[in-house]
Amino acid sequence: MTEAKDGDELLTRLRQFHDNYFPHHQQRFQDLVAQGQHPKTLFIGCSDSRLVPYLLTGAGPGELFIVRNVGAFVPPYIMGDPGARTNGAGAPLAGLHGTMAAIEFAVLSLKVERIVICGHSHCGAIRASYEGVPEEARALKAWLTLAQEAVLPVQPTPEALRRTEQRAVVLQLERLMDYPMVRRAVEAGQLSLHGWHYVIEDGEIHVFDAQQGDFLPASVASNPGTGPWRAWVEHDGQILVD
Ligand SMILES: [Zn+2]
Repeated sequence: MTEAKDGDELLTRLRQFHDNYFPHHQQRFQDLVAQGQHPKTLFIGCSDSRLVPYLLTGAGPGELFIVRNVGAFVPPYIMGDPGARTNGAGAPLAGLHGTMAAIEFAVLSLKVERIVICGHSHCGAIRASYEGVPEEARALKAWLTLAQEAVLPVQPTPEALRRTEQRAVVLQLERLMDYPMVRRAVEAGQLSLHGWHYVIEDGEIHVFDAQQGDFLPASVASNPGTGPWRAWVEHDGQILVD
């Protein structure tokens, strides 16, 4: 490996990737270029540095289409002109909608089969929903309204924060179902939605089990967090969604 002349750690790591990692995985990357990407999962996760989707899922290149934002939130689907609307909490929706665009692309073009919403313990976005943000952080303040319905009317104890983190995940799943292309794919049985809460200190994902209405550790869960929004066929052949 070539040492970076200026000793910059980030530059050293870039060279390590190229010199040490890439040669052993070259074919896989080149296949993904030749054949294009066909990820089966859209992963919407919090930006938190301690949440590492590839480690958690064991995924490699080409397997996850990832959107990360503060809190792992899903903005409301907007009919018509996004700039002319406000969300339920009165925050303006003007601007560019990266998360919304990624959801549209993943479902309509990539035709992903799963969407995962992944929140986590000790989430700064959820804590800030109780404690507020600096006045200058105007976009952040507006963005955090996407968790407002999950906030509990209590002091932000560790238990309340944990509960709010989980409630926020379910809230985003519900919002996803307002995206026409998501609802359509779910109802056609082509897409399933999964709500996850990652407990950093335990190294374990807790998956939302819609039947039990609760989050269960992945070690004991019977499914990877399939929500109520997956069509399943009853014994009489009737397709149920909700
Ligand atoms: Zn977070």
